[in-house]
Amino acid sequence: MWQPKEETMPREQLRELQLTRLNRTLAHIMKNAPVQRDLLCGAGFDGAPLTRLEDIQHLPFSVKRMFIDNYPYGLFAVPRDEVIRLQGTSGTTGKPSISGYTRADMAMWKDLIARLACAVGVSERDTAQVSFGYGLFTGGFGLHQGLEHIGATVLPLSSGNTERQLMMMEDLGVTVLIATPSYALYLSEVAAEKGVKDRLKLRVGLFGGEGCTPEMRRTIEANLGVVATNNYGLCELTGPGVSGECVERNGLHFAEDHFYPEIIDPDTGKVLPLGEEGELVVTTLTRECVPLIRYRTRDITRLIPESCPCGRTHIRMAPVLGRSDDMLIIKGVNVYPSQIESVLITAEHIGPHYLLFVRREGRMDTLEIQVELTDGAMLENYRMLEALRDAITERLRSTLGLAVKVSLVAPQTIERFQGKAKRVIDMRK
Ligand SMILES: [Zn+2]
Repeated sequence: MWQPKEETMPREQLRELQLTRLNRTLAHIMKNAPVQRDLLCGAGFDGAPLTRLEDIQHLPFSVKRMFIDNYPYGLFAVPRDEVIRLQGTSGTTGKPSISGYTRADMAMWKDLIARLACAVGVSERDTAQVSFGYGLFTGGFGLHQGLEHIGATVLPLSSGNTERQLMMMEDLGVTVLIATPSYALYLSEVAAEKGVKDRLKLRVGLFGGEGCTPEMRRTIEANLGVVATNNYGLCELTGPGVSGECVERNGLHFAEDHFYPEIIDPDTGKVLPLGEEGELVVTTLTRECVPLIRYRTRDITRLIPESCPCGRTHIRMAPVLGRSDDMLIIKGVNVYPSQIESVLITAEHIGPHYLLFVRREGRMDTLEIQVELTDGAMLENYRMLEALRDAITERLRSTLGLAVKVSLVAPQTIERFQGKAKRVIDMRK
C-alpha cells in the first residue's frame, strides 16, 4: 500500500476529513474562483461552512459545459504563476476542457497513481511501458509520473506502431503494460499471432481511459499472461487515479480523501440511496487549480458500501456501465455498448472487435451489430454461419431485451483502435 494511513483510515475519521476539506474547498472557491462562486451563490449558498457532509446535496451541480463556456482559464482558482502543468480532454472536435495543476495538485495526482500501481504489486523493480498517447490526454503523463514516483523504470512509448511496441516489450523486459483495454486487446492479438507471448516478461496490466468488461479482461489476461486492473478518472477532475482496483478486483476504490462521490438519478438530479445505480457526481476536496463542486461525470455506476478484504476503507465503485452520453435509446430501450460487448466476447468463433450501427427505418430504430469471425473459412459454411448468427442474436435479445441484427464479417475487416475505441455509428443523427 502506498499511503496506508490514508487508504485504511477509519470511515468516521475519513468523513470528518472530507467535511473539513469540503469546507476548505468552498472557502477557496468563494475567495478565488468567480465562475464557481457565482454558480454557488446563484443557488442560494451563503458561504457559511457546512455542518454535515450530506448537506452537499443542496449545492448546485457543475457540468462539462462550464469548461467550454469559460475556456481556457475561466475556472482556474490560482494565479497563473502557480500553475505548473496544463492537460486537456482528448476530444477531436471543438475546444478541449483544460485542466491546470499546481505543485500540490501534481503531488496529489502522483500519489493517486502510485496507489493504484502499488495495489497490484508494482514496485521499483518493475519496468513499465506506457502505451497511452502522450500529450494533452491525461493518461500518458498521468501514469508516467506516478510510476516514476514509486521508482519503477518508465518506458514512454506512447501509442501506435504495434510491432515496435512488442519488440521493445520483449527486448527491454517490460513487466507492466499501461494501455486502454481496446489497445491491450489488439496488442495481445498481434502478440499471439507472432508467437512472442512466451518471450515476454509481462505480469501486470494497468488499464484505463475507457471501460473494460470482465470478459474482455479475461481475453487480454489469457493472451498476454498478465493480471490486469482497471482505473478511472476524468481530466476535469485531475485524470486517472480518481478510483482504481485493488487485487480483489471487485470494484474500484475511490480516493475519498481527495474526492467526494455521490450517485444521482440523471433525470431528476436527486441523490440515490447508497448502492443504487445512477450517474456519478464528484466533488474535488483538495484541488487547488480547478476546484469543482458536484461535477456531473455522465458515467453510470454504483457505489459498493461493503468493506473490502484488502483492508482499504475507501468506498468502491462498480466498473462504469456506460456513459449516460453513450447510452443508446433504441425502440425505447436503454442500451449500453458495454452490455453488447460482454455478450460478444463470450461467444465462440467471433473476435472481440465490433461495430454498432443504429438506423431509423421508417419510424422504427434498428440496431445492427457487425462482428468479426475468428476464422474466415467459416464464411463458406452457410449452415454453421447461420447457426452461429442465430445463437448470438438470441443471446443479445435476452440480454438487451431488444431484437437486433447480427452481421458476421471476415477477420481483420473492422478498424483497430490505438486509443479509445469508437464503436457506435448512430445514423439517426
Ligand atoms: Zn480492496
